[in-house]
Amino acid sequence: MGLHDQVTFPHEERIPQPGEAFSVADGVWWIRMPLPFALDHINLWILADGDGFTLVDTGFGVPATWDLWEKHFTGLLAGREVKNIVVTHYHPDHVGSAGWLVEKTGAPMWMTSTEFLSAHAAHDDTAGFDRATGVAFFARNGLDVSQMPERMRTGNGYKRGVPTIPLSYRRMMHGDRLSIGGRDWEVITLFGHAPEQAALYCAELNVLISADQVLPRITSNVGVWGNQPEANPLAAFLGSLSRLGHLPDDTLVLPSHERVFRGLHPRIAQLHEHHERRLERLLEGCAQPVTAYEALPLLFKRTLDDHQMMFAMGEAIAHLHYLQYQGKVRRLTDDRGVRRFAAARPA
Ligand SMILES: [Zn+2]
Repeated sequence: MGLHDQVTFPHEERIPQPGEAFSVADGVWWIRMPLPFALDHINLWILADGDGFTLVDTGFGVPATWDLWEKHFTGLLAGREVKNIVVTHYHPDHVGSAGWLVEKTGAPMWMTSTEFLSAHAAHDDTAGFDRATGVAFFARNGLDVSQMPERMRTGNGYKRGVPTIPLSYRRMMHGDRLSIGGRDWEVITLFGHAPEQAALYCAELNVLISADQVLPRITSNVGVWGNQPEANPLAAFLGSLSRLGHLPDDTLVLPSHERVFRGLHPRIAQLHEHHERRLERLLEGCAQPVTAYEALPLLFKRTLDDHQMMFAMGEAIAHLHYLQYQGKVRRLTDDRGVRRFAAARPA
């Protein structure tokens, strides 16, 4: 039996339909919202909270999401209070509708500080989240920026999915326990995909809301971006997975994409293997000095559209930096500032 067989899906192919809330544990409902991307959906969670509810994540901030929220407000949520809105991280599919929901319900929004501030920075084009900083960084990593369409070089794609963000929040920190409906949910912060992503674990239910850190089939994007050009997010990503190491084998995992599953530890092992294989392929490709752009075909077999190209570049640099910090490749910078990576010769 391969590792993959140990990831199981208790609800098989069944997924919640638009506007439907699907019970997955006592007082825990799974709902889905659409996304206008190749990855076409996000999973959100509704938790019973006394005589009301707590929502976990909010969906992309567009009318299609709000129309579906209205269905939930006349369905499961009808006539009862939304007490808290928990947002796992600052990406638009998670925080995008937080402003709309806070406005509608008056509930407080809970986030980690880094995610709250990153959301505002990405929305307001500051702290190096702006396109110009990102594009200049990718140019230093070999991307021919002149080939990119104007809309990818300028403007703000973040705001398309995040029209507003609340100006105040309640802070979550690693190890905090949120009391939701008389049950403790432990905050576990995780790194590499987002700067301080929050997962939530309820021991009483043995349920983990894993956000985007652990997904059952696809792997989370782990990238280096322009405002942190020397970062090693893959080390942070793989390292922080150990924070889930003590959870029971049969924990029910509620991921932000794809389906609810069991098999957390086999899945974490697969993630380590997946990145290990990519690192090996990349290292072989560094026999001659290559830029991250030139290394893309080693990691991505399919052709990439402009949107995917941005994520692919960040991901390729993340893997090259991991090898660099391991001492397996060294970085060469030419007189135009372009970075190449070459296998380190044994001394
Ligand atoms: Zn994300």
